[in-house]
Amino acid sequence: MIIVKSREEIELMRESALIVSKTLGMLASEVKPGATTLQLDTLAEEFIRDHGAIPGFLGLYDFPNTLCMSPNEQVVHGFPTNEPLMEGDIISIDCGAIKNDFYGDHAYTFSVGEINPQTEKLLQVTKESLYVGIKELKTGNRVGDVGYAIQQYCEQHGYGVVRELVGHGLGRKMHEDPEMPNYGKRGRGKKFIEGMVVAIEPMINMGTHRVRQHADGWTITTLDKQPSAHFEHNVAILDGKPELLSTFAYVYEALGIESDEEAEFRQEALVL
Ligand code: MG
Ligand code: MG
Repeated sequence: MIIVKSREEIELMRESALIVSKTLGMLASEVKPGATTLQLDTLAEEFIRDHGAIPGFLGLYDFPNTLCMSPNEQVVHGFPTNEPLMEGDIISIDCGAIKNDFYGDHAYTFSVGEINPQTEKLLQVTKESLYVGIKELKTGNRVGDVGYAIQQYCEQHGYGVVRELVGHGLGRKMHEDPEMPNYGKRGRGKKFIEGMVVAIEPMINMGTHRVRQHADGWTITTLDKQPSAHFEHNVAILDGKPELLSTFAYVYEALGIESDEEAEFRQEALVL
């Protein structure tokens, strides 16, 4: 059952999403060769608590940390470790926070120092596919329209779209209806309605779409050990159109990146 949110509830969800956005922005300056993902996890937990929120993943389904940290061939759900990041790595950071009882949940794949051009391209296309999908999130469309758009966009670049993991509705629970696959057929699946809030999150592999789950019950890696990227936004349907609740603006500010990719999905400019 899809739980529709009121305008007031969506404003509360925006607060939760922005805490995660700011956390990712803070982490953007800390992702560098030599840093460990466990150090970053500690920084994120402190930051979230300092902002009056609770880490959203810690303890959820018994996950032991604040961040899911998935380097290189890990797709999602990796654990923070004491292993230092190395020049040329990529690291997918997925972060959740709860404020006013509502979850924020989004993700960004960072490069560690300089990365090779092929991996850079994977990151770029995966992020572009997120907005290609968001564009389809409007009343009258269906879940399959978002999945179809993301899948087409990524497969035309020769990339693999992970099937086993999907986006989801978001609210007082981290995973609400509907499931939001990154693949699908036009015109299929549940219809979008005003006041829905979803997490759209393409998980895109350089090679095969096939993945495996490790014996730890969490970590997912690509079957061919090629890299995988993950970008996630929280989006509401307001006035029939997609509106971003999360933002990468804090990440871009930290990294000195100019971008207008989010402009079309915002009603007003963000005040950083
Ligand atoms: Mg997430
Ligand atoms: Mg999610």
